[in-house]
Amino acid sequence: MSDSAALVIVGTGLAGYNLAREFRKLDKTRELVLISADDGRFYSKPMLSTGFAKGKSAEQLVMQEAGSMAAELNARIMTDTRIERIDPVSKTLHWQGGQQAYGELVLACGAHARALPGAEALADCLLSINNLQDYARFRALLGERQRVLIIGAGLIGCEFANDLAAAGIQVQVVAPDAQVMPGLLPAAVATAVQSGLESLGVRFYLGRAVTELQATNAGLEALLDDGQRLQADIGLSAIGLIANTRLAMAAGLTCGRGIQVDRHLRSSNPQIYALGDCAEVAGLNLMYVMPLMAAARALAQTLAGNPTALNYGPMPVMVKTPACPLVVSPPVTSSEGEWQVSGSGADISAQFHDPQGVLHGYALSGSCVAEKLQLNRQLPPWLA
Ligand SMILES: Cc1cc2nc3c(=O)[nH]c(=O)nc-3n(C[C@H](O)[C@H](O)[C@H](O)COP(=O)(O)OP(=O)(O)OC[C@H]3O[C@@H](n4cnc5c(N)ncnc54)[C@H](O)[C@@H]3O)c2cc1C
Repeated sequence: MSDSAALVIVGTGLAGYNLAREFRKLDKTRELVLISADDGRFYSKPMLSTGFAKGKSAEQLVMQEAGSMAAELNARIMTDTRIERIDPVSKTLHWQGGQQAYGELVLACGAHARALPGAEALADCLLSINNLQDYARFRALLGERQRVLIIGAGLIGCEFANDLAAAGIQVQVVAPDAQVMPGLLPAAVATAVQSGLESLGVRFYLGRAVTELQATNAGLEALLDDGQRLQADIGLSAIGLIANTRLAMAAGLTCGRGIQVDRHLRSSNPQIYALGDCAEVAGLNLMYVMPLMAAARALAQTLAGNPTALNYGPMPVMVKTPACPLVVSPPVTSSEGEWQVSGSGADISAQFHDPQGVLHGYALSGSCVAEKLQLNRQLPPWLA
């Protein structure tokens, strides 16, 4: 058995680094180790979908190098180290050529982009952007080229459509759903967002499936199920993220859509915790910044010896589509109910009430985003 007392965090994304920062406010001396498959540079991932219009390189999005984070956190940070196996009996992490013992382990290993069938063969013309390295690679491939085909019209697909179009790129978006952000927005708000993006020149092919994708001399060609062929210099696949649960599952931890943890962020193994995109907290796998910040504060307390259950207040998401300002608080606290919509054009207020008339969510576009604060006061907490 290991006798290490080290607190080890796997992952140096916003979840891993924010947890480390919160923990150091409470405990300045315990051995702290962060291990990351990437280069450990600290950046804010939401900036990836606003970087093109601002003309920012990947380097310009970096806020701190790994060495500077290690000094700030009084921690050892091991970069370019991909953990391959957790041995929960000896409490040891293994990677090619090394191992690290832990006293307590936190998994903050994020999510990966869902891949389109056959995407591997198109690696030079079809990319996803889910981290700084992806962003750097996409920018390098794009170079001076002008035509991007985005596959997927969810939140991330729409944000990139806005950002690339604002940077002067010709953007086409194809998705099988009849509207943008189908799981998130009622139709009237989706129409407002789509119109805003179209005013920037974005062309939508909604309700259409891609039946074939192939590399061409110029870049990429997509065949749609209605026979249309779309050409682009480069494709951006934005069809969703999947929590990284492989390591946890192989170690015998209970996983669903994410690594399942209780409100103390504790997994089915009492020495292993999880937070961020990889975690399913009390049934919720929320891939946003606000939930992981709340989780980092609660977990830091628990790890510092003050067990603290996580509470989630309402956590609206500001979607970065400036062509049509949008804020959404999805109705996570009730599936029963219906949307009531008012407004017109770009300015839509949609509110989701249950059969008793209690507000559970909203989607506000255009000038209606100003209603956000007043509606937040009426929303029930997501986890209490
Ligand atoms: C383009 C884009 C825009 C977004 N915009 C917003 C927004 O506006 N607002 C918002 O709230 N949210 C936004 N999000 C979501 C938000 O950014 C994420 O929820 C958050 O950054 C996830 O952080 P994380 O630390 O959990 O995961 P990640 O940032 O994915 O970090 C995972 C870490 O784990 C490491 N890792 C993985 N596997 C291993 C392994 N086996 N061994 C060692 N290390 C490993 C990785 O190297 C990485 O360091 C956006 C996401 C994207 C992709």
